[in-house]
Amino acid sequence: MEIKNLKATVLGTGPSWGCPVLGCDCKVCKGDNPKNKRLRSSVCVSWETIKPIENDNPEKYDRSLIIDAGPDFREQSLRSSISSVNAVFLTHEHSDHIEGIDDLRSFSIHQGSIPLYGSKKCIDLIKNKFSYCWRKQIYGGGLPQLIVPFSFSSFFDAHFIPEESIKLLKKANLKTFFLDCSERRVTSKHFHPESAIEMAKIVGAKKTYLTHISHQFDYDEFLEELPENIEPAYDELTFEINI
Ligand SMILES: [Zn+2]
Ligand SMILES: [Zn+2]
Repeated sequence: MEIKNLKATVLGTGPSWGCPVLGCDCKVCKGDNPKNKRLRSSVCVSWETIKPIENDNPEKYDRSLIIDAGPDFREQSLRSSISSVNAVFLTHEHSDHIEGIDDLRSFSIHQGSIPLYGSKKCIDLIKNKFSYCWRKQIYGGGLPQLIVPFSFSSFFDAHFIPEESIKLLKKANLKTFFLDCSERRVTSKHFHPESAIEMAKIVGAKKTYLTHISHQFDYDEFLEELPENIEPAYDELTFEINI
């Protein structure tokens, strides 16, 4: 199948609370820098097919894969004009990454079943939590954090990357790498600037974007702090992907 216009659109770069945080009056939350407005973390990989895939509507060839569908999925789909969803990869089962499953029904009404990929733990949880959303088709297995064939990879909600995965990431010669950097302090759940920079250097992608960013970070100040080739991501950032 020939494809064109393969690209990634960052649907959201926020942590579980998003940014601004409800009820918070810090300068990041109250400020007007659009790059500090962060919906929950998610990425859409999209492309156009030259030929229709079997059973497709022959008039419409746009394809899209969604990495994580959190509580802002509906708003993100409208904002980025996503017209169909061909598969969803769930990195893990936390609410800020799966609550959009409910809104996938709007797409499945028009297109039929949408394959979901995630760990067994994640798929089991959503089968239970959103039992009304499907009849039979459940697709599971495999950790979706890695999308090496696209020269693009994304890690949300992580504070370390296993040695085995680092080897794969290095081997993939990534052009773009997305890495969690939620907090300024050291926690057992997330990367912080120092550890994220260190990991970005180890993985060695041409460009690393930090994401899942809390209100502890003002975009402009954070950008100044980071070394070359490492930048904070922001909502609606788009970049081309080469296979
Ligand atoms: Zn999260
Ligand atoms: Zn705040």
